[in-house]
Amino acid sequence: MTSNMLDLLKKHFGYDAFRPLQAEVVGHVLSGGDALVLMPTGGGKSLCYQLPALKLSGITIVVSPLIALMKDQVDALRANGIPAAFLNSSLLPQEISRVENEARTGKLKLLYLAPERLSMPAVRHFLQELTVSLFAIDEAHCISEWGHDFRPDYRNLDALRRMFPHTPMLALTATANVRVRDDILAQLGLQRGRVFQSSFNRSNLTYRVIPKKKALERLVQELKSRPGASAIVYCFSRKGSEKTAADLTANGIKAAAYHAGLNAKERTRVQERFIRDEVPVIAATIAFGMGIDKPDVRLVAHLDMPKSVEGYYQETGRAGRDGLPSDCLLFFSTGDRFKHEFFIREMENFDERQRARRQLDEIVRYCGLKSCRRKYLLGYFGETWTQANCSACDVCSPQLQEPPVGQSSVPDFDHELFERLRVVRRNLADAQGVPPYVIFGDRTLQDMARYFPQQLDALAKMFGVGKEKLTHYGEAFLTEIRSYAQTKGITEREIPSQATPERATKVRRGMTDTIRFTVQLFAEKRTPKQIANVRRLAEGTILQHLEQAMAQGKLPDASHVAFPSPERFDRIAQAFKKTGSAMLAPAQVQLGPSYSYDEIRLARFILKARERAG
Ligand code: ADP
Ligand code: ZN
Repeated sequence: MTSNMLDLLKKHFGYDAFRPLQAEVVGHVLSGGDALVLMPTGGGKSLCYQLPALKLSGITIVVSPLIALMKDQVDALRANGIPAAFLNSSLLPQEISRVENEARTGKLKLLYLAPERLSMPAVRHFLQELTVSLFAIDEAHCISEWGHDFRPDYRNLDALRRMFPHTPMLALTATANVRVRDDILAQLGLQRGRVFQSSFNRSNLTYRVIPKKKALERLVQELKSRPGASAIVYCFSRKGSEKTAADLTANGIKAAAYHAGLNAKERTRVQERFIRDEVPVIAATIAFGMGIDKPDVRLVAHLDMPKSVEGYYQETGRAGRDGLPSDCLLFFSTGDRFKHEFFIREMENFDERQRARRQLDEIVRYCGLKSCRRKYLLGYFGETWTQANCSACDVCSPQLQEPPVGQSSVPDFDHELFERLRVVRRNLADAQGVPPYVIFGDRTLQDMARYFPQQLDALAKMFGVGKEKLTHYGEAFLTEIRSYAQTKGITEREIPSQATPERATKVRRGMTDTIRFTVQLFAEKRTPKQIANVRRLAEGTILQHLEQAMAQGKLPDASHVAFPSPERFDRIAQAFKKTGSAMLAPAQVQLGPSYSYDEIRLARFILKARERAG
């Protein structure tokens, strides 16, 4: 079955490999078994029923609590050429009968259903008319009162089980809480099913805690280092979220506030604008997030300390669902602890108060850790992390504390082309009334901006490009890539058989790859400054790359690099002579503070390059 399933995976979803446990779950479901799947957010749960749905002869019914998401999910499936539809209260009666007819006549592979519909006799009757091959229960923790998101409507699933005792059922959740798990198994009658549980480690996320000093300034800096990228900034209060949104806007960052004080219409509007990439940054209370399925959130910042580790894991879980490097940043101050304590003292119920205190202690402990933050988070959910160094938290990698290196999201691609491809994506999405990520995810665009494919067959090898999307969107992207490549004199780069295998998306990439990319751009006669712009890295970093390449004897001709001011260049050259060393610091002492390290480094690079050229 596996090679067959891999073909379907590439054809319909454009992926080359399964994520952990997906293949096992798919196999189990196809053999007719029940199962409970526990995977963290972004783990790839949907595929566990979407892929079997393509293979199974009847229809797959997906019960999902988030009406707002259904349309996007169905749009995403259709963009991949998979016949799917949804039934919920947002539809008109004639739309409902159209969908029901499509289902009856076998035209649909997947049908999404809101749980409250299951209580309607007409709906039950309709379901009995169908050949149902599989029930998928998304967000299965909603059935449990022990969870954070109990939905009474989920109790209707009970009836479903009685009506279809022989139809396999797959329950899925990202809840790591053991009590909730047991409750799901019991309530859905899945005791005889298999439980698939993957690690809750989010390997593409970087965890940092920094002191809350000049927080706004720091936040602005972080956001500006990822222009246009989606970010969520969590605040303690409604007022705080309003103020933060205003402060960010005043600092030239497009941001909107979201909290429970807004009316339903306003809330939906803010969500929509976020999902459609119209507003990149949302400053929100924890009211924001449930029902946000945006895969390309690059930063989740907590401007105020959250009230529990569990909440923190959930909120940060919204970053990087697409598997690309993303950051979680928590601003910590002791003052925040007192703020929470104030509210805890107001609580009337003794047990509740005790629980809240314990949770607060745990998150404060997390903030003050001197050991790996990832290990602590996973340990909190009963998982053991055995690696000595995760290299993606600020304790394991202290250099993450600084703002220009703190950013982990610097995979190697041409950012200028990426931005242009984002525009192409936006236009296509707007024309079709779907969110941009339904067209292609960021990783696909990054692949394009890395390999510059110029023909359909090359484009087909990019991550996330399946058959349907290739046909519909291929030319639009190729046109942009071709014209960009032509004006810049870039040719198609060799594409490895799997452009970006899942394994390659670790937070930090090998030094050699990143240097190679700099050298490649340098060979195309771009200056260090231009390369820095294209790659969104500091010029100093690019010069470091070039110096390292030079040391290894791998630097191409450098004659296109000039120094802006001949006088200053001479002064710097003098200073190096005087100190008798090639080190930056002594030269800077000689020159005084009006000379920056970057400037001195550039001069040193030119001097060395000239020396080498003879
Ligand atoms: P979850 O429901 O577990 O939070 P999703 O099903 O939304 O996760 O998947 C998260 C992201 O990962 C989506 O963008 C999805 O398309 C992508 N994805 C899922 N499976 C794979 C895979 N095998 N290879 C690459 N990407 C995948
Ligand atoms: Zn760590």
